[in-house]
Amino acid sequence: MSGGFHIDAGTIPPVPGAYVLVIRLDAPLPPLAPGRYLYCGSAKGAGGLRARLGRHMRKDKKIRWHVDRLTEAGVVEGAFVFEDGDECALVAKLSYLPVPWPGFGSSDCRSCQSHLLALPGTLRVIDIF
Ligand SMILES: [Zn+2]
Repeated sequence: MSGGFHIDAGTIPPVPGAYVLVIRLDAPLPPLAPGRYLYCGSAKGAGGLRARLGRHMRKDKKIRWHVDRLTEAGVVEGAFVFEDGDECALVAKLSYLPVPWPGFGSSDCRSCQSHLLALPGTLRVIDIF
């Protein structure tokens, strides 16, 4: 069940779940061209979705995960959150979208080609699900 689209981590509940992060690149980040991208992830630790998305939305963090390179280089436009959701189920729902970088964020996942998807310019964020 969707907990909606959030542009500020402060409105996100501190519960476990999955999320789709919307990231805009205004400059190339090879092999990615400028454009919008969707990253599917999950947050199960302390602080849950609010803590994880607060980290994604903050600048000047230590690069720890693959996606940190994108959030540092680009602009996080917001995130859909799904309480008790599953990141791979979100990838499956978005499987109609192009995969710009096989293996991105999914190195320990056996079911997904990538946890990063490209959002074509013709699609509005609110229409992706
Ligand atoms: Zn997966």
